[in-house]
Parts: sequence; C-alpha cells; structure tokens
Amino acid sequence: MQSPSGSPSEAERPVIVWFRDDLRLCDNPALHAAASTGQRVLAVFIHDDVTPTIRKRGAAARWWLHHSLARLQAALDGQLLLLSGAAEPALLALATKTQASAVYWNRRYGQGERAVDASIKDKLKSDGVNARSFNGALLNEPWEVKSKVGTPMKVFTPYWRAARDRGEPPAPLPAPAALLCADWPEGLGIDLAALKLLPTQPDWSGEMQQVWQPGEEGARANLAAFLEGAIKNYGDNRNRPDRVSTSRLSPHLRFGEISPRQVWHATRSAFASGQAPAKEYDGEKFLTEIGWREFSYHLLYQFPQLANANFQRKFDAFPWSDDDKALRAWQRGMTGYPIVDAGMRQLWRTGWMHNRVRMVVGSFLVKHLLLDWRKGEDWFWDTLVDADPASNAASWQWVAGSGADAAPYFRIFAPVLQGEKFDPDGAYVRKYVPEIAKLPNKFLHAPWKAPHPELARAGITLGLTYPHPIVVHEEARVRALAAFKSISADAG
Ligand code: FAD
Repeated sequence: MQSPSGSPSEAERPVIVWFRDDLRLCDNPALHAAASTGQRVLAVFIHDDVTPTIRKRGAAARWWLHHSLARLQAALDGQLLLLSGAAEPALLALATKTQASAVYWNRRYGQGERAVDASIKDKLKSDGVNARSFNGALLNEPWEVKSKVGTPMKVFTPYWRAARDRGEPPAPLPAPAALLCADWPEGLGIDLAALKLLPTQPDWSGEMQQVWQPGEEGARANLAAFLEGAIKNYGDNRNRPDRVSTSRLSPHLRFGEISPRQVWHATRSAFASGQAPAKEYDGEKFLTEIGWREFSYHLLYQFPQLANANFQRKFDAFPWSDDDKALRAWQRGMTGYPIVDAGMRQLWRTGWMHNRVRMVVGSFLVKHLLLDWRKGEDWFWDTLVDADPASNAASWQWVAGSGADAAPYFRIFAPVLQGEKFDPDGAYVRKYVPEIAKLPNKFLHAPWKAPHPELARAGITLGLTYPHPIVVHEEARVRALAAFKSISADAG
C-alpha cells in the first residue's frame, strides 16, 4: 500500500527494535510493543566498542555476549542484524535506509549510555521517526522509588521497604506470538564471528563452556532448576560456596536473557503452588537479593560516577598502597590464603564467584592489602561474566566502606575464619586450590599452621608449591584500622 506521494505508508515501514542488555524474546517490552504495531520488525544489535563515554565490556562478558547473540539470532530465525561501530550514526543511518517509522528499545542506566540514547531519541524525533524507550531491566525505574519526603534513598532497608510498598511488579509479557521480521538492505551487517568477541590466543573459555549455557533458554532452565532445588534453605545455604546454594542467574540477568519480573513472578508462583520445596523465608530472602540489584541501579542513577569515585568523599584521602606485586598475587589466586585463592581461581576459570567469597576477596584486597577498591572493580569487570555497571561498582564500594550503605570499616573479614565457617569441609578450596587438597581439614584454611610432617605428607613445600601468606592477618588488620582511622579523623 503506497501513500499518494509514492513513499511507503506507515504500515509498510518497519519498526526497529534495538537490542542491548535485553537479549530475550519473552517479557521484552520494546519487542512486544513493536510486534503489537502489526508492522514488520527489524531487530538489530550494535556492538559499540568505540563510543568513548561507554565502558567497554570485559573479556569474560564478551565471551558471554557472543554466545547470547548466537542464541538470540537462532531464536529469531537468523533475523537479527548485527552492526559494529558507534551506535548513534549506525542506528540513525539504519532508520533512514529502511525508512523505519519507529525505533524502540529498553532503557540502560549508565551515564554514557543514557546520553547516547537521549541524543539518538532527539535526532530520530526531529527526523519524524517515533522513538520510544521502555523499562525491560528493573522492577522499578531508579527514579520511581523515593523516601517519604520525595528524595532518593541511600540505605537499602528503607529503599526496599519503599519499593515493596509500590506493590507487586506487573506480570511478564509473553513473547510475540508471531513476529513479522523485516529484511535489511543487502550488504548491511556483519557476521557474529567478525565481532571478535571470543578469546583466541589463548582460548581460556574451556571451563566456562562447561559451566554455563548463555541465552534465554539457559536462563529459564537455571531458574527452574533453582526453584526446584537450591531455593530449599536458600536463606541459610546462600553463604556456602561449597554447595550449589544460589540461583547463578546473575549473568543471565546482566544480559537481560531473563527479566527480574519473570524471576519475581516465577518465584511467587512456585511458592503459591507449593512447588518450591522451601519456606516462605527462603523465597523472601531470594527476592531481597533481587532487591539489592535494584538498589544498585538506584545508586548508579543518583551517582553516575559509582565505578570511579568514592561515594563518601572522605575516602578521597585514603592512603592506598600501590603494591603491584600484591595486586598480581591477588589476581592470580596466589595470596597464600586458601579461601581467597580459591575464589580468585574460581573467577578466572568460570567467570563467576560465589557472593560470600566475593566479599572475602574484596575485603582482603582493600583491607589486608590496602589496594584501591577500583583496582578490584576493574579486575572483576574484566573477568566476571556477570560484570554489571551497577552491582559491581556498588558492591565494591560497599566492601571498601566508601559506599552509600557500606559495611562499617572495622568489619575486616578474617580469611581463615571465613573459610572455616563457610567451607567447613574444604570442598571449595580443594576444588580450586588442588595443590593443598591433601591437607587435613584442620589445616586446610591455614596451611602455614600445619606442622612440617603434615605438609610433607600432603606434598606441600610452602613458598614453592603454594605461597606463604603475603600478609600476616593480625598485622594487616592493625594497619587497615589505622588507615581508616586516618581518614575518619581527616573528615573531622
Ligand atoms: P543469587 O543469590 O541467586 O541472587 C539472585 C540475583 O540477585 C543475582 O543473580 C543478582 O542479580 C542479584 N544479587 C544477589 N546479590 C546481589 C548483590 N549483593 N548486589 C546486587 N545484586 C545482587 N553481581 C552482579 O550481578 N554483577 C557484578 O558485577 C557483581 N559484582 C560484585 C562485586 C563484589 C565485590 C561483590 C561483593 C558482589 C558483587 N555482585 C555482583 C553481587 C553478587 O555477588 C552476585 O550478584 C551473586 O553472587 C550472583 O550469584 P547468583 O546469581 O547465584 O545470586
């Protein structure tokens, strides 16, 4: 149907859906709205590694992205256009070339991303193209939850209470029943392999491939398995890295392969139907963790510099060390503290680390080694498959004590006690630090305390087959307390 002017009618023009951190078909508001127009839909993903205000993805996240895009392409019968380069000119050119009537997307919340999106929206609108954005990533928009006097919140508990007072999140949307996909102009687009997201020299992703199934189906399978299994006693077990004790949904949520609304309602119905083998308390605890993710985005929105600047300015005067050797030992899992080393090696091998151990290794970096939390945040950014602009930065600031609702600075995790408490049988340490696996439980979390014959029996020569501790806990604790006290005094 041509309009009298000879140009295509509204109904003939495609609607572009710009996929970003929402690599799914179900509960995807932008896709759902586009499909509801009845027009053809042109699905596009733009790999933007060049816009300087947008932080480049780390290596582990790139690995995930490759596989997630492959799954989304398959789910769309190949009808996902891949582009590479600066998003703004690429998208504007695509809208012009295809004579799109509209461009829809789900929102992102980083400052750089918001600026790009706002600029694109303005330009599309001035070109007469309908540009619409949706909430596809959060239960509540960061600006929607406010204190009683209308201000943003800095403390989790009242934040979460206010969020809960807003009522149940809306039910998830179905995947579009039938999607009329639009073709794109010939010659446009790039092969997934040409995005070069996978590691090659060397390919370190072997174990990650065994552990993870990126994509919407993998996300759904993880959630279902969790609600039939590890949800049981989640409230108590969630601190145990030696067990399958949590959902492992974080990378799926990060890439939007599943939405928090889907997680929320699936959890609610598993409890309502009695299918979840758990107590209400376990379900509430789990949903509260989703709340921490929301709170992180609330903080990022208020404080766009979350990954770069101390939320509490007094930390600007903190006397950080610049001991690169200590940083490298931490990164490689060679600190001589088995629970720390196990965590850092789990991260390196699988792209993920259990939350309790993230707190232990984070505390160790900042408090035992006095290294700037931003160095830890950066390493996690590169190595985590779930590296998230809000949760990673907010959690690091929480661990460091510089954050909005931070752990008090005098809470210095003792790594040996943490290991003994949360990995009591040593299964976690034995898996990731095999060179000390033969030590009896009594010495596993503190090999330097083992008498010489015990070490010999276990085939360990400290300093050779496994490091001596790089710092002495008691000394490090005193040093950390003094450093934190110095800035507390500065703050007056
Ligand atoms: P579950 O216990 O099953 O929780 C369900 C979901 O809730 C998670 O998938 C996650 O989306 C959310 N969640 C749980 N705990 C937190 C938390 N403390 N803060 C924010 N969201 C949470 N999480 C990330 O998703 N990306 C990060 O980059 C990240 N960096 C972190 C860095 C440090 C130093 C620390 C201490 C924590 C970090 N976390 C991060 C939070 C947390 O460790 C992970 O979300 C969690 O371990 C993921 O495992 P799971 O999916 O099995 O969690």
